[in-house]
Amino acid sequence: MAGFMRRLNERSAHELIGGIKAGEITARQVTEAVFERIQEHDSNINAYITLNEPGALQKADEIDRRIAAGKPLGCLAGIPVALKDLLCTRGLRTTCASRILDTFIPPYDATAVARLRQSDAILIGKLNMDEFAMGSSNENSAYGPARNPHDPERVTGGSSGGSAAAVAAGETVLAIGSDTGGSIRLPASFCGVVGLKPTYGRVSRYGLIAYASSLDQIGPLARNVRDTALLLHVIAGHDPRDSTSADLPVPDYAASLETGVEGLTVGIPGEFFAAGLDPEVREAVMRGVGLLENAGARIQEVSLPVAGHPAYAIASYYIIATGEASSNLARYDGVKYGLRVESDDLIDMYCKTRSRGFGAEVKRRIMLGTYVLSAGYYDAYYLKAQRVRTLIKADFDRAFETCDLLAAPVSPTPAFKIGEKIDDPLQMYLSDIYTVSVNLAGIPGLSLPCGTSSDGLPIGLQLLGRAFEEQTLLRAGYVVEQGQVP
Ligand code: GLN
Repeated sequence: MAGFMRRLNERSAHELIGGIKAGEITARQVTEAVFERIQEHDSNINAYITLNEPGALQKADEIDRRIAAGKPLGCLAGIPVALKDLLCTRGLRTTCASRILDTFIPPYDATAVARLRQSDAILIGKLNMDEFAMGSSNENSAYGPARNPHDPERVTGGSSGGSAAAVAAGETVLAIGSDTGGSIRLPASFCGVVGLKPTYGRVSRYGLIAYASSLDQIGPLARNVRDTALLLHVIAGHDPRDSTSADLPVPDYAASLETGVEGLTVGIPGEFFAAGLDPEVREAVMRGVGLLENAGARIQEVSLPVAGHPAYAIASYYIIATGEASSNLARYDGVKYGLRVESDDLIDMYCKTRSRGFGAEVKRRIMLGTYVLSAGYYDAYYLKAQRVRTLIKADFDRAFETCDLLAAPVSPTPAFKIGEKIDDPLQMYLSDIYTVSVNLAGIPGLSLPCGTSSDGLPIGLQLLGRAFEEQTLLRAGYVVEQGQVP
């Protein structure tokens, strides 16, 4: 019953879908509730870069008319979804939180966006993020940091900080993020929501502005596991426009949620619980593992000697990601789109445009990446990092011979203070210690709340699975979620 006391913007997608289809509430009421919440609250949180209010209300009215006329509807009819601002949206500004794309209006939709439109979701707006998805705190945004709804002095985590904050604050019901080295899972854990990085290839990257193409994946964020499953189902699947998208059937993730974990083996990788892990985080994660054990899972220790070693995982990730970024970001030259700083000389125009358009962290990554790919250094850095990547994948393959899933923390600590790590890039990169190896191996990872610190900050549990076994993660996540005291 409590659910019906909550404001519409705070309800779960699956509750709202039933209410809208039954005619108890309208898509317009739900959409208006979300925009009211944004009006009253987003000046504190800064989750949004661009709002789509007229477009959203128009779509809501169209859905309400179709319901009244008894016409068929998509599976997310009337459900508010907000998008990380690196997914191209036709006719709606897409900035990547960068000055260089401040005025960019894409002429086409990303495939994930097109699928959301087909499902009759309501697109609320474009969410704050670290510039070009480079960061772990959302402080690298040209539009200012997003703030953690649990404590506005603290970071949301990054780079999909706006996505996690908007979901946590009731400023949307569902959100889309992207995860190259933890960017869905880290903000989900810092803001106390659920976030899933799908298997590489599960969701089309067409229309996702590229950071590191061999690592980037689009994924869902929501306030509970069932909503996460619903949203993944809509965006997943093969797309001829992305040759790395997998041509495999998409399971009905929500349908298998209540299957439980009886008989599954959950591995605990010792390296993810080593020195540097906050004792409160360890305790909360192990409580989550205890819930899986009580529900019939077998718990087993495993070792990930390469994937779990920061000197290998963080180093190889930051070499591969920056190398790919330096190549992907070469296209922002002032010629084709976005900012152009005029000059009579072409090279000077490139130089001024890029100097003014990119922020400090993006410039650092472009320089690092150009260095590791340059003649004479390629073998020593990039090629070596690719070899380490193969060993990281082999570590996970070995673990999944005996385990069905792995459980670990998402981050060594809960959300840190705004400003705390921004001047120390290496400290910032170390926030990604438990997330980056998952992208290097291409496997899926789910982050979900498993407790609260003594300061009242959310703590996340990370569940990892074999490639294309997202349903196992969601089933296990559902068990943990149900086992928690509300
Ligand atoms: N923090 C990592 C980075 O800065 C991961 C970012 C991401 O997943 N997009 O590269």
